Amino acid sequence: GKKVLEVKDLVTTFRIGKKEYEVLRGVSFDIEENETLCMVGESGCGKSVTTLSIMDLLPNNGRVVSGSIKLNGQELTTLSPKERNALRGKQMGMIFQEPMTALNPLLTIGRQMTEGLRLHLGMSREEAYETAVSYLEKVGIANPGDRMKQYPFQLSGGLRQRVMIAMVMAAQPSLLIADEPTTALDVTIQKQVLVLLNRLKKDVSTGILFITHDLGVVAEIADRVIILYSGRKVEEGSIEAIFSRPLHPYTVGLMKAVPNVDVDDFDIQPIPGTFPNITEEIGGCRFHPRCPYATDRCRTEVPAEMEIAPGHFVCCHKVEEEHR
Ligand code: SF4
Ligand code: MG
Repeated sequence: GKKVLEVKDLVTTFRIGKKEYEVLRGVSFDIEENETLCMVGESGCGKSVTTLSIMDLLPNNGRVVSGSIKLNGQELTTLSPKERNALRGKQMGMIFQEPMTALNPLLTIGRQMTEGLRLHLGMSREEAYETAVSYLEKVGIANPGDRMKQYPFQLSGGLRQRVMIAMVMAAQPSLLIADEPTTALDVTIQKQVLVLLNRLKKDVSTGILFITHDLGVVAEIADRVIILYSGRKVEEGSIEAIFSRPLHPYTVGLMKAVPNVDVDDFDIQPIPGTFPNITEEIGGCRFHPRCPYATDRCRTEVPAEMEIAPGHFVCCHKVEEEHR
């Protein structure tokens, strides 16, 4: 398939006091159209910073230092903030955990949906109205005409989340970035939202970058998975490879905690040792203080990425030595 997003050697830093710390230490991955890539890792691993770097929404003390981000073949890192802003909402849609951050409380659902479509896709008033109604129907909202007249506060959390998805998908973005979009929802609604995203992905051929710490959600929605640890990718593979043949000791630790993939809500379980702070200097493999297999080489040399099987990448000296 066509590549929608290509991220290469992305390095993002945060300034704290007078020092700059690397939060992303050279992260690379691609997403094709009609594909969902789940990015998994503990809180603080760099998942959200990856999405903020792609969207150009880093806080003031954060910046992309080097690397490349291409959307439909176009390099983003050299564009002006204004040009980046124009891509958001149009080529790039975003959904978050809390829909109220994306919805304007002062405007009716109809007003905000149609304004976006008129602005981003140049639709006429009538066209925008019809499109908005049809997407509200697609996300399973009954009486969409009535809902269009309501304000966000008049809707339940689950309905607001669906409205946000309808709003984002109506613009037919080539890339959808979803950062923990179902975490605040109860399990039944969570399932509905995931089914919905899967369907819309096929309808619109969108590539989805889905951030989560819930392995049950990963099992439900991912085509491929990448595991981040302390600002680096440690493993990447198809959903089958990651769940049934995990290789990196960190991934193996995560997967051990999963008795079967049909569990509804299965958060990443803490594995022994503490997760490093970004300000902590750790040489070699960032996982070595927690890894039962760590050697001197692990403490000094950053493990390179190795393709163990087609599409299955691992960054680990032990795995590399075993597969040489
Ligand atoms: Fe463990 Fe070494 Fe592999 Fe890092 S490189 S995960 S420390 S064996
Ligand atoms: Mg986060």
